Amino acid sequence: MASGETKVMKYEPVIGLEVHIELNTKTKMFCRCNADYFGKEPNTSTCPVCLGLPGALPFINQQAIEDCIKIGLALNCSINEKSYFERKNYFYPDLAKGFQTSQLVLPIAIGGWIEVEDAQGKLTKIRINRAHQEEDTGKLTHRDGQTFIDYNRSSVPLVEVVTEPDFTDTFQIKDYAKKLQQIFRYLDVSNADMERGDMRLEANISVRPVGQTTLPNYRVELKNINSFRFMAQAVEYEIARQIEAHEKGEKLVQETRGWNEDKRVTYVQRSKEEAHDYRYFPEPDLPILKMSATLINEMTKAVDTAKEKDPVKVAEKLVSTGMSLASGASIARNPIKLAIFNEVQKEKSVLDMDWKDFGNFIANREINEENINLVPELTKKQLSDFQSRKSGLISNSKELEALAQEVIDENPGMVDIYKSGKTTVVMALVGGVMGKSGGKADPGKVKAILERLLG
Ligand SMILES: [Zn+2]
Repeated sequence: MASGETKVMKYEPVIGLEVHIELNTKTKMFCRCNADYFGKEPNTSTCPVCLGLPGALPFINQQAIEDCIKIGLALNCSINEKSYFERKNYFYPDLAKGFQTSQLVLPIAIGGWIEVEDAQGKLTKIRINRAHQEEDTGKLTHRDGQTFIDYNRSSVPLVEVVTEPDFTDTFQIKDYAKKLQQIFRYLDVSNADMERGDMRLEANISVRPVGQTTLPNYRVELKNINSFRFMAQAVEYEIARQIEAHEKGEKLVQETRGWNEDKRVTYVQRSKEEAHDYRYFPEPDLPILKMSATLINEMTKAVDTAKEKDPVKVAEKLVSTGMSLASGASIARNPIKLAIFNEVQKEKSVLDMDWKDFGNFIANREINEENINLVPELTKKQLSDFQSRKSGLISNSKELEALAQEVIDENPGMVDIYKSGKTTVVMALVGGVMGKSGGKADPGKVKAILERLLG
């Protein structure tokens, strides 16, 4: 091997993602406790089941299973006809039972895919390994050398979506996270708010020489990172760290690392437990899940209906009414603006209106009202603002012509400049007419009239 050859050796990252989504069901996964723990007094939403007291028997939350099926279908997965829960055993105070009820062998959904965009706008298919149902843990708080535990979050339904190691850059990761968030929201299965912890991202990263087709024999897991931005930074850092280690001939090991926001580095949290450390075994207290064709059909229909709410689709539909792409996207992202636009479209009396103009008008309005119940009122106001703005314009050409002539007469200097060939000066004259009309003229129309009068 020539001495320079190792220097040109290039490495590529191999990245897989695990996303946990907390479902927005009313009750917990295996009991009837309230699942909405946010901002509640600690340990006020618990019972013998979610505290794992001896003799307490769990039962399955049907809504959560349906939500998990929908997530699987939206990600092009197959739904297993038979699926069951397993105990993932570990001893840690955040789960009082001493195990987490999860799924390993037969998860609800398997073998899907989603397309993501890279920095060049190229679409790549990312394979989805599985979407399985499990439960969240309690929350530990460390303060003044003491540890406090709140079990309100313990056993809130959680779905885990696992990809194959198909990502090669952080742009794809950001696009994936954004697309998943949109899917969870239009399916209405989760608020998918990363800051509140509804949606949590974990990345498995390793690096291999370009050309190698087998997976590296180690992987580093990045955990407990609560924003898109920090995850992207941590992944970038980790790719660079691992390439440098490879180049120095250092051995990389299987471990879990976190992100230090101040120092902007990843750091070791713990060496990785292998799956067998958890001693998975079928949960004897819960029945096997059997997915009927009727249920799958019902869920497929629900997903198709929900997909119509996908912001990309909604924007496309809006643009078809004539408004600009920017306006369409802006309205699609704002539920209140969208509701107003749809409301107006329903009204027959305004069917002859200029949808392009109205769409652009709504997109550019400041509408901060959060309350969807106020839409009828807001619609009336926006519509009347739009119409009065339109009718307020001077549409009479004679009137505009008179104003234009006045401005020409008052500015002989500018007229000379215009006639000498500097035609851009016409804009100053347009400004004059706009001023005289009190802003109630269409500048395009005024410009045309001025040009005609000036010959
Ligand atoms: Zn409970």
